[in-house]
Amino acid sequence: MVLTSHPSHPRYQLAGRKAIEYSSGIENLLVYYWEKAKLTPTDEIEKIVLDSRLSVPEKDERVIAFLEQCGAQGVATAVECLMETSDVRVSEFVASYLEMIPGAREEKTRAAERLRGAGPLAQSAARLVPWLPESVLEGFVQDYLAAPDPDSPQASVLFSIGIHYPGLLRPHADRIESPFIQRSLLSGAPDELADGLLKIWREQQDLDDLHSLALIRTRHASDLISSLRDDVDDPEDWEWLMPLAGHLPDSGKSSVFRPSFMGFVADEGMSDHVMGGQYLGDVPLCADCRAPAERVLTLSCDALPHAVSQDPSFFWFSCAEVDRIAVQFTPRGTKVYLGPQGIAGEESRIVPGERSLVLEPHPNQTGVSLMAIAGRSQHQVGGLPRWPSPELHPICPGCGNFMPFLAAVDSGPTPFGSMGFDGLLFGFWCDDCSVSTTQIQY
Ligand SMILES: [Zn+2]
Ligand SMILES: [Zn+2]
Repeated sequence: MVLTSHPSHPRYQLAGRKAIEYSSGIENLLVYYWEKAKLTPTDEIEKIVLDSRLSVPEKDERVIAFLEQCGAQGVATAVECLMETSDVRVSEFVASYLEMIPGAREEKTRAAERLRGAGPLAQSAARLVPWLPESVLEGFVQDYLAAPDPDSPQASVLFSIGIHYPGLLRPHADRIESPFIQRSLLSGAPDELADGLLKIWREQQDLDDLHSLALIRTRHASDLISSLRDDVDDPEDWEWLMPLAGHLPDSGKSSVFRPSFMGFVADEGMSDHVMGGQYLGDVPLCADCRAPAERVLTLSCDALPHAVSQDPSFFWFSCAEVDRIAVQFTPRGTKVYLGPQGIAGEESRIVPGERSLVLEPHPNQTGVSLMAIAGRSQHQVGGLPRWPSPELHPICPGCGNFMPFLAAVDSGPTPFGSMGFDGLLFGFWCDDCSVSTTQIQY
């Protein structure tokens, strides 16, 4: 006993080290479980967001992955975090996750009501606006009007209300200074404003005023644009103003399919509208590198209320060497215009894996008049396109007429990872010819 207790004795050293190792092992384990038990999901999210070693896209990716692995509890976990956190960076990341998820009105409303009373965190409610009841939206408007400040957290919420519910802000337009919010209020503006813009254009001949007039998108505004065919100097200007206002320049038919839906990338099978995955049939091949185009979206005409009689598919190349793809769908398969065609590849990189697009009615059926920002916009089916900068609609290679707009797919993050392209894809559809055209804007 004396020997083994001597500190220099090898047996003592051995036993002592073991004892130390053993006890620190237990301790580590205890600390580990204690930490694990102590960390709520909100702690976990805060840990990611406040980790200074991570870049913003990395944080975004990890917060999305964390909430996504909660499965059916993802929304509840996100809402719980918004109820608890006091950090605006955390509320921004979590609210942008909820913005990617369709539905969950009650949960999103609960979170927005908490954010409204949480100082700087109120700005994160901007991402939940499409799902909020009018009473809650009115509350945010009143908060802003109580101390109008374009840099306040409430200004972000107003910005989103302008996009989704411009009618709610119109009565207060004279107290809102932001030029962006003012622009969003063009959507569905009264006829007197349309007449006023036309009058200013006649005096000053500044195309920006006709651009604003077209963005009103009422029948009256569209008729005024239509009447200017011979007054606009460059015929091409009139040809992009017309579909922006809602009608095709050649036929006068609607330039869109109504109604308008917001689209959400969801897991495979969650809706009949397929995104990504392997396309069965020929697809366009890149004329330069021969890589096959990938299916971005196939809409199921049976699941749509629009006047679409076949299932339109829209394709894109991951090499991004073209700016337009046109395909006809025939009983014998696909026919590609303006380039080679061949078997589809198995990989799905443009859309991460095989997914589906869940649709929800867009709160603004008139059409959003504020410009889109590629990578930060919504997916859309039907309704008027929201361009980064307005363009001519493509000509159908089948019949030679201008094509109406049908869908837009943004390159922003999805719950399943990032999209394999930059910019914003716009899909057009000629139902007479069963031709789809996909083009891009950055
Ligand atoms: Zn290529
Ligand atoms: Zn056609």
